[in-house]
Amino acid sequence: MKSYWALYAIIFFLLTLTSLSYAQEKVWNNKECAVVLTYDDAIDIDLDNVVPALDSLGLKGTFYLIGSSPVINKRLNEWRAIAKRGHELGNHSMFHPCDGSLPGRNWVSAESDLSKYTVARAVSEARTANTLLKAIDGKDVRTFAYPCGDLKIGNDYFYDKLKNDFAGARGTQEGLQTIDQVDLTNIRCYPINGQSAEYMIELVKKARQTHTLLVFLFHGVGGGHNINVSRGAHGQLLHYLKDNEQNIWIAPMVDVAERIKAYQAKGN
Ligand SMILES: [Zn+2]
Repeated sequence: MKSYWALYAIIFFLLTLTSLSYAQEKVWNNKECAVVLTYDDAIDIDLDNVVPALDSLGLKGTFYLIGSSPVINKRLNEWRAIAKRGHELGNHSMFHPCDGSLPGRNWVSAESDLSKYTVARAVSEARTANTLLKAIDGKDVRTFAYPCGDLKIGNDYFYDKLKNDFAGARGTQEGLQTIDQVDLTNIRCYPINGQSAEYMIELVKKARQTHTLLVFLFHGVGGGHNINVSRGAHGQLLHYLKDNEQNIWIAPMVDVAERIKAYQAKGN
């Protein structure tokens, strides 16, 4: 009799494990993992190199625009057109304020020094950028990306006041996280600067194995920014994603953030 109980216990344990890993696997739009491609700072290269590469494979990305970037004014209709094609225009503030009090931040100018801002000013700046972006794409829901990854003004997390204005906020800290682990106020990502295609594809493979969210953070692609990745390496990553699309959910940040929000709201 005793041995039956042991057997039942083992079977129950195995079934629980299987259903847990199955549930983990299915949360990302019924794929193994989610991959988000993000491009910061509203630079010409986004429209010249990145969008054609994404569009040629039917992939969608998120472009974190700085409201004051001259490239917005200069190429307004192109930004509008890419939003219409399904790319997200994300909010990267109006003036890209970074914390000038941190070590190695001598380059931060007095007028865009986040440490000199009040929380109210940072909040109002982000909301103004949302108005500008809505005037371009007509959308009410989008995500935010912290300029320089700076979360705080003094001791205050300024995004606390912006939680209802966005589906989520991307930080700059590295990490792969399961859907229950993701912090929507500071979504992890992998900043790319000169790494190889192999490195990036390896990250995707790791995300597939662990059923996690993988966010790439790009600036220049084939130039256009001092933080850069080669066009070839970026292209190889896109091809790997396309070739494995049946197993990988590739979507703009806003879609993935909304999915996470809904999942976490259910008390998961
Ligand atoms: Zn930036």
